[in-house]
Amino acid sequence: MHGIVWFRRDLRLSDQPALTAACKECRQVIPLFVFDEPLLQSQVFGSACVNFMLGCLEDLAESLAARGLPLQWRRGEPVEEVVSAAREWKIDVVYWNRDYEPRALERDRLVQQRLAQMGVLVRTFKDHVVFEAEEVRSATGEPLQRYSAYRARWWAKWQATKPPVLPVPSGCSGDKAVPLSPPRPIPTAHELGYEPLTPWIEAGERQARKRLSRFVAGPIHTYVDGRNRPAIDGSSKLSPHFRFGTLSPRTAVHAALAALAQGGRVSRPDVLTWIDELVWREFFQQVLSAFPRVVDGPFRSLAVPPPRQPGLERDRLFQAWCDGRTGYPIVDAGMRQLKLTGWMHNRVRMIVASFLIKDLRIDWQSGERYFMKQLLDADVAANNGNWQWCASTGTDAMRGYRIFNPVLQSKTFDPQGDYIRRYVPALAKVPAPAIHEPHLMTDGEQRRLGSRIGLDYPAPIVDHRQARLEYLALGKAAQR
Ligand SMILES: Cc1cc2nc3c(=O)[nH]c(=O)nc-3n(C[C@H](O)[C@H](O)[C@H](O)COP(=O)(O)OP(=O)(O)OC[C@H]3O[C@@H](n4cnc5c(N)ncnc54)[C@H](O)[C@@H]3O)c2cc1C
Repeated sequence: MHGIVWFRRDLRLSDQPALTAACKECRQVIPLFVFDEPLLQSQVFGSACVNFMLGCLEDLAESLAARGLPLQWRRGEPVEEVVSAAREWKIDVVYWNRDYEPRALERDRLVQQRLAQMGVLVRTFKDHVVFEAEEVRSATGEPLQRYSAYRARWWAKWQATKPPVLPVPSGCSGDKAVPLSPPRPIPTAHELGYEPLTPWIEAGERQARKRLSRFVAGPIHTYVDGRNRPAIDGSSKLSPHFRFGTLSPRTAVHAALAALAQGGRVSRPDVLTWIDELVWREFFQQVLSAFPRVVDGPFRSLAVPPPRQPGLERDRLFQAWCDGRTGYPIVDAGMRQLKLTGWMHNRVRMIVASFLIKDLRIDWQSGERYFMKQLLDADVAANNGNWQWCASTGTDAMRGYRIFNPVLQSKTFDPQGDYIRRYVPALAKVPAPAIHEPHLMTDGEQRRLGSRIGLDYPAPIVDHRQARLEYLALGKAAQR
């Protein structure tokens, strides 16, 4: 048989179910990637994400070429490109790993339909998650809406099955290559219509594995505390790798559990808490799978305060939030980190999201879209799930009208202000605790420290205490 392995968000060779099956079942194998032109044109994702993806593709192409199996690529409408590749190369079967985003599901349904009409088989595999939505259900077979219940069942399933990690398939070699003209170099970001950037997190499967090894040898052992401190390297920063599949979640869980099994200074709660974050990731994937309507609006029709009316004031506040010019240093540091690097610390993501929705009263969908465009780990399921959580509209949302106090959060999680100073140079000389509320400094202090409020650094664009009271009052009114 002649097969295509259609790479999508699984840009690696190890623990790659579609590639493994193709190498086992086919005499000849063609690895293929398709640049989705309509998606590129839509600019839903931004340059950070696209550059990271290109880095991953370069790495994949290099690894495949080293094995004598070059990566072919095409650019266009994916259904048409896959169908025409299958026709042109006289393919018997197309292999891919499943994607659960509504847009991807529709694309895959169409490809499958067209290939079936041509008599071409399709084989699809679970890959992006340890357990698919149907595998972790309630006792009555319903999708789970509470993370705690989902987590309990996820772990029970893990204990019962311990899904193995597949090695790089031995058949992934030049013996399977089809004599096609050598592929052109992977296009540049510029050629795809995006700004060229060096990804802030190194791209590709090899870098993902290095990062995982470093993390399980060190920071994972202080994760419970470290994950909440944006000034330190306390979390794995593997999210872009999970997003593009340069690391499989199975590999990550096994690596963390292996670190635990080694004993020594290993802390069980730290390791298990980290794996629980991967379970959050799967929880949101299953929410998207089971309730695809979440991409179009709130999951729950709970009465929440209405967002601010469209208009100049709303636009001014939104722009200040995007630019990191709200006058709340922790919010501004986060938004500037995002713009500069394409990544933001999880604790700070929660703070800036709460601030946008509850202090500025701007619809969470605007924040969701902005994050999609800026993040290098931009992922529909995780982004939507977390924004809905922060907006108290999600399956397992932030309870009631809980509103983060940005100053208190800042004092608790960045007590010395080191994170703020890194991203807000105008506050570089301001010591803690003044750095958390620089507008409270006297005029003399502001001048002496080079942080004149209104000149070097903005005054708060809203008063948090007042904004909170307004939000709560609107919440009460909405419930009537
Ligand atoms: C408003 C908002 C938007 C977000 N948007 C995204 C997004 O587009 N893409 C994305 O991958 N994550 C998103 N997250 C979740 C989280 O912030 C990132 O996954 C995390 O910061 C990545 O850092 P890390 O790899 O160091 O995580 P670690 O702390 O090392 O966690 C390990 C892995 O678990 C997963 N994970 C951790 N926290 C979460 C979470 N809350 N929800 C889902 N998965 C999680 C990630 O895959 C992460 O790489 C968002 C969070 C918020 C509050």
